[in-house]
Amino acid sequence: MLNGKVAVITGGTRGIGYSIVKKFLDNGCKVALLGSKEETVSKAIKDLKVINENYEVIGFYPNLCSQDEMGEIFKKVKETYGKIDILVNNAGISSKTKLEDYEESEYDKISDLNIKSVFTSSKMVLPYLKETKGVILNTSSMVSIYGQPSGVMYPASKFAVNGITKSLSRELAPYGIRVNAVLPGITETDMVKNLPKEMIEPLIKTIPLGRIGTPDDISNAFLFLASDMASYITGELLSVDGGSRS
Ligand code: NAD
Repeated sequence: MLNGKVAVITGGTRGIGYSIVKKFLDNGCKVALLGSKEETVSKAIKDLKVINENYEVIGFYPNLCSQDEMGEIFKKVKETYGKIDILVNNAGISSKTKLEDYEESEYDKISDLNIKSVFTSSKMVLPYLKETKGVILNTSSMVSIYGQPSGVMYPASKFAVNGITKSLSRELAPYGIRVNAVLPGITETDMVKNLPKEMIEPLIKTIPLGRIGTPDDISNAFLFLASDMASYITGELLSVDGGSRS
């Protein structure tokens, strides 16, 4: 479905991002995966090459909020693979801190990674996507619809991601660039494994399909939205949550 395309995927070393990387590679895409550390980026690439030595994948660990560093990364990807068709802004951190316990540093950390990085990457990739009439996909969350009982900055940051998605879909449509977001429900990744059982079990009871999502459930939606099958879809916030919002 992505034969000959080139994608840059942030937060690609594990969880949902790793699943998107693998799915895109399996569908003929060349991928630059971005992570936070050299070790995790190298490990992800090594693991992928064990699965298929012919995968065309490279990795970097820039500061996603630095326009200079992101500009360099997109330049290197173009030098390596000739173009950029798809940006997936997937890196993100969650929070469960109560309002009265919030430190300014946590506020800044969430707002930087979950919002500023999406803005920065989208801005710096723009010249390349204008050339290919490319696609920006953002990882939002089901909590961007109805919030969550603690950790206010996590849902707040995802409301912002939805806002960036909707606004950029309008701003970039004249260039033929599509901008969409996927809103995963609770998904089996490290982020969720770190949440307390008391928080997860009641949540599962509210899911009409009766189970939490897998990274594969989520990356299927990214594959569809990145592909030409979604050529007339932009500004969409696609829930992939087992029906949780109903
Ligand atoms: P994860 O913790 O398994 O992976 C997070 C990824 O982000 C990793 O690749 C990590 O390298 C990267 N990352 C973390 N901090 C970074 C930093 N400072 N700089 C650069 N990269 C950094 O998380 P996940 O569950 O796979 O989450 C991926 C996305 O999905 C996030 O945006 C998250 O908000 C969203 N999401 C997850 C769930 C869920 O239930 N797991 C639900 C809804 C939305």
